[in-house]
Amino acid sequence: MTDTIAAIATPFGSGGIGVIRVSGQQSFDLAAKIFSKTPADGEKKAPQFISHRVSHGFICDGDTTIDEVLVIPMKAPRSYTAEDVVEIQAHSGTIVLRRILDLLFRLGARPAEPGEFTRRAFLNGRIDLTQAEAVADIINARSDSSLKFAASQSLGLLRQSIQEMISVLTQFAARLEAAIDFPDDAGAFSYTSQDKTKLQSVADKIERLIQQHKDACFLKTGIRLAICGEPNVGKSSIMNRILEKEKSIITAIPGTTRDPIEDNLTIEGIPFVVVDTAGIHQTDDLVEIIGIEKARDQIEAADIVLYVIETGRPFPEKTVSKSLPEDKPVIFAINKMDLIDELDMPQLPEKYNCFPLVEVSALTGKGINTLKTRLLETCIGNLEIGDNAVIPNLRHKNALVQALGYMSTIMEGLENAQEEETLALDVKNCIDHLGTITGDTAPPDILDAVFNNFCIGK
Ligand code: GDP
Repeated sequence: MTDTIAAIATPFGSGGIGVIRVSGQQSFDLAAKIFSKTPADGEKKAPQFISHRVSHGFICDGDTTIDEVLVIPMKAPRSYTAEDVVEIQAHSGTIVLRRILDLLFRLGARPAEPGEFTRRAFLNGRIDLTQAEAVADIINARSDSSLKFAASQSLGLLRQSIQEMISVLTQFAARLEAAIDFPDDAGAFSYTSQDKTKLQSVADKIERLIQQHKDACFLKTGIRLAICGEPNVGKSSIMNRILEKEKSIITAIPGTTRDPIEDNLTIEGIPFVVVDTAGIHQTDDLVEIIGIEKARDQIEAADIVLYVIETGRPFPEKTVSKSLPEDKPVIFAINKMDLIDELDMPQLPEKYNCFPLVEVSALTGKGINTLKTRLLETCIGNLEIGDNAVIPNLRHKNALVQALGYMSTIMEGLENAQEEETLALDVKNCIDHLGTITGDTAPPDILDAVFNNFCIGK
């Protein structure tokens, strides 16, 4: 029997409602003890909880009414944890919720650990580990796209894909085991062209999932966009325009931005982390030199670089060629277009013609939407993430990489007539690594690592 746990399931602070979640065998009894259909000064009527039906009443501590609430009792297994669960919807306020929680603790419930409700749902077989992790991802989703992929995972698409692969490998392992244990009946193991096709398709599937993780990593973390260029060309102004708020300090004094400033932005559902950097130029000022070094670090860490130049100024060839990254996309923005005639278009030196170029005015906002579109096209234009894609997280990716390693050992072994015992062991190891993704073979330390990332109440 598991003990009964309780926690506040909604964020701290004031709001319309706050929810306390109680899960475990005692949850209905505990709720009945503190809940009354009438306020504390009335005649306490014992509640008759009916599963999945809302009860209206009051939480009372002796003679004191703590709050007017709605209570939703849910009988096992039709609940989030697959145990008896009671959710109490009270007025959201830290003190009210704390008092109700303390009452429950006094009567025998214990505080839930971070992620313990979801852990119970997993241990009770209601969800697999990929779905449990999707719960955390949905809570933390910063953009429509990451929410979409977390949601597809919560529907169990990744689990389904993994289980199909495990099923192919298990059938293969069974034939190997039969040949090892009952050589007289099963005969020697023979590796057919059909086996080869099936195993190759498993390896291909694993490889695809690893690639999807790489491609879509930024959907969770955000694409890092570093805005760089010489001092005073309008980097901070462009950042503020893109973010549509005053994040960076703008002055006509060169060298104002010394420490990188960053903020989050979503363009058409894709998350970006925008970083404004110190102007890069020749200087003897020690503080500025440190700022420039930091700017170079930001270029290094970025996924895409926006290089700002100013119309009317000579193209800073030396600085650009020294700081332009070779291994990541770059977009040039010519700023302060409001200062020149449209026909008097500035040109980039020929060797930079291969980079996208956008004319903007941070002052008037002209060209900023085109710049955003260009950013999207450049970052995700080549990505092939279909609507039904499942995006493994880093833990899944590591397990997939291990599994892929075993797949190539197995297939090499089969080509070279490796002994069946060794092959069987490799197949088992491969299945085990895939199983850690769904949680079927996940050791306790993996479970701890997954659930410790949750907030309390989830
Ligand atoms: P940073 O040093 O590159 O970050 O440049 P700032 O954003 O601090 O801008 C430097 C100066 O240029 C400020 O006085 C801004 O008001 C001005 N500025 C920035 N963008 C534009 C623009 O599009 N047009 C005009 N006319 N001035 C701008």
